[in-house]
Amino acid sequence: MLILSLMEHSAGLLIGGEWRTAPSWSEVRSPWDSAVVGRVGRAGPEQVDAAVRAAEHGFDLVAGLPAAERARLLRRASALVAERRERFAAAIIAESGKPRRHAAAEVDRAVETLRLSSEEAGRLHGETVPLDAAPGSARRRGYFIRVPLGVVGAITPFNFPLNLVCHKVGPALAAGNSIVLKPASATPLTALLLGQVFIEAGLPPGALNIVTGPGPAVGLPLVRDIRVRLITFTGSAAVGETIRTESGLRRTALELGANCGAIVDETADLDAALERCLAGGFAYSGQVCIHTQRLYLHTAIADEFTRRFVERARALACGDPADPATEVGPMINRAAVEAALELVRSAVEAGAELLCGGTAENNLMHPTVLARVGPELPVVCEETFAPVVTVETFKDFDSGLAMFNRGSSAGTRDYGLACGVFTSDLNRAFRATERLAVGNVYVNDSATFRADLAPYGGVRDSGTGREGPRFAVEQMTDIRMVSFNLGD
Ligand code: NAD
Repeated sequence: MLILSLMEHSAGLLIGGEWRTAPSWSEVRSPWDSAVVGRVGRAGPEQVDAAVRAAEHGFDLVAGLPAAERARLLRRASALVAERRERFAAAIIAESGKPRRHAAAEVDRAVETLRLSSEEAGRLHGETVPLDAAPGSARRRGYFIRVPLGVVGAITPFNFPLNLVCHKVGPALAAGNSIVLKPASATPLTALLLGQVFIEAGLPPGALNIVTGPGPAVGLPLVRDIRVRLITFTGSAAVGETIRTESGLRRTALELGANCGAIVDETADLDAALERCLAGGFAYSGQVCIHTQRLYLHTAIADEFTRRFVERARALACGDPADPATEVGPMINRAAVEAALELVRSAVEAGAELLCGGTAENNLMHPTVLARVGPELPVVCEETFAPVVTVETFKDFDSGLAMFNRGSSAGTRDYGLACGVFTSDLNRAFRATERLAVGNVYVNDSATFRADLAPYGGVRDSGTGREGPRFAVEQMTDIRMVSFNLGD
């Protein structure tokens, strides 16, 4: 209800510091029970144009603020999100179906992401350049500075409707840019609540604009607009590819999909590995880009580990995401459930063994584990984005590493986001960090670990660039070289 009342007052699109009415409206429904949880505007090309114009004006205002003031605004926004923890968690639960415990954790992470961004505002420094070391430049002195880009276009996915928005908005403002944000059509309400937070924090008008609506109708005009200097996108590889094609020579930062996994060897602490792989496999119904989709187990521990893993997966509390006891809630919509069930069905037809799950009630898919799979099966080599985990075994550690790499690129994409490695053998752990062809290797953690201050991102089809405020501000600024010719 809080959300509905906010929407009634906010009138839809945030453009130039005001809530503006939209040409048409969409209902936002709960993935759990289909209840209407909000109403948002559907922007058209005119509203996208107005948002970019407002952002150009907003850029002049933000770029004119001293770093200390940008840092203060971001600290204030972080504090306001913390004050409204319950309200944000309720919005995430309502529109994304994320279980309460994960929704609350996402809010806490967003508070941290904005705080980290505030610190980066004061760290945007360049370096002196010893030009007198260059032939013929003995009387020149030089340095470089970092300058903001201008208008940043941000397009975000449904699965972290708050924290992944903060990973774009926070660093963009810290760097002195303005933003036009297009949140996911399934989960726009949380982003609008964040817009309200920034208004109350005192952000200059036009510094943050939010246009809601379907991806092709709202996201694409934003991507094609040459006044937008950077498109920062998190979402599927397919849409990432479209954005890359449509943005021409302009800069893009892409955080895309993957089929991440974990390798567990015979020296690992099995209890700890089990807990982390279970959380990685089924948290938010596997709708996480660093979902632990594939398990590679040493043959010496495979039977015991699989037996315990399946036992625990079967016992996970599934149900209403608003219930604090729920561990696995609904998937985002019926189409996503059907696609996941189809992946499981086709795997079983191809000879895979279904150890648990493979069923669904409405949008709730039960935790599913499949054994006797191979790298070419789509349930292994494509991104499943569902509570589905596959199990394969290896006889020696190095073949486990090779199997993981093979499964990353055996499908229609060449993924490389994250892998967890559970071992007590230091040499093996080091080898894993060198050989796993991913952007993130986590020793004694599942792929699903992420700290918001760390550089985070994929390689190859899993993305370009790195998020984490310190790293995002680099992508969101240009280096400007300055030279002084002192004459003879
Ligand atoms: P999606 O690609 O379907 O949508 C992402 C965003 O793009 C949405 O806002 C959507 O409206 C917009 N969009 C869709 N079509 C568009 C178009 N033609 N032009 C411009 N914008 C368009 O992704 P999703 O289903 O919301 O999220 C799931 C995907 O996101 C998964 O593949 C997941 O792995 C990925 N993801 C990656 C990371 C990461 O950090 N690497 C994090 C979270 C999610």
